[in-house]
Amino acid sequence: MTAEIIDGRKIGLDIREELKSRIEKLRESGQPPGLAVVLVGHNQASKTYVSMKQKACTELGIYSELIELPEETTEAALLEVVNALNENDRIHGILVQLPLPDQISEAAVIEAIKPEKDVDGFHPVNIGRMQTGGEAFYPCTPYGIIKMLEHKGINIAGKHAVIVGRSNIVGKPMGQLLLNKHATVTICHSRTENLAYHTKQADIVIAAVGIRHLITADHIKDGAIVIDVGMNRDDAGKLCGDVDFEGCKDKASAITPVPGGVGPMTITMLLANTTESAERARMK
Ligand code: NAD
Repeated sequence: MTAEIIDGRKIGLDIREELKSRIEKLRESGQPPGLAVVLVGHNQASKTYVSMKQKACTELGIYSELIELPEETTEAALLEVVNALNENDRIHGILVQLPLPDQISEAAVIEAIKPEKDVDGFHPVNIGRMQTGGEAFYPCTPYGIIKMLEHKGINIAGKHAVIVGRSNIVGKPMGQLLLNKHATVTICHSRTENLAYHTKQADIVIAAVGIRHLITADHIKDGAIVIDVGMNRDDAGKLCGDVDFEGCKDKASAITPVPGGVGPMTITMLLANTTESAERARMK
């Protein structure tokens, strides 16, 4: 079997195209969606992510503001910035780029963001509502993966999904969103014994670990759908995922590449959540 390559760039562009008319309506009403991105310190990877997010906003007509703060910023000073953005009517989404310097509690900052402006979907209120139902924002990476599967016409209900990784931003919410779509869900992690035993039973394998080529052809069954969240570097410094793409592509029925798979979907869902937030604000 040769796997269908799931093109996250193309799906992301299709979704962005759909967002354009919604953004245009908001602009015509005088309330364009607005995203504030707060960057503390000089983490190079964070700077790259932030500039990609801002570029995507500009391309779609979303107003965006970048607030850059020095590495030595105190938690109190950052909370003041967040509170001001909470009260700013031009801003519908607040994104504080993680990781934060050690002197700042990430939990305190995330909890200070108004849940209705938490377009990253990390606030406990949004996480709780993702579980119990109600108006919420979902974390962009797992939400993007659900959209990607749906876009490909993959029926999630009844499928056995095995997620490798249990982080708060990817693995755990991925499990909840798949459960909401009626999948049977297994979550594996660093203490899981015999990882391949679990992943080989999966109709859908989602790798979100951060270890290059952890998932090989021996970890999947024939015809599995393989989604690779990982972003690692190979020995030549080239971006690669958690999945041995070359080894798995002849065994899987569908597979995402790295780059060009999950990554573009994550940014797209940030744009979607910001647009949704602006629409909700307008209805109030
Ligand atoms: P994390 O470091 O917070 O979590 C990694 C998880 O992997 C942990 O839950 C841990 O238990 C598990 N793990 C570690 N070693 C393992 C092993 N040997 N077997 C099974 N499980 C193991 O990472 P994260 O923030 O969830 O990110 C995971 C990867 O996804 C990273 O490479 C990150 O860069 C990437 N990522 C990509 C996007 C995107 O948009 N493409 C978004 C977020 C994260």
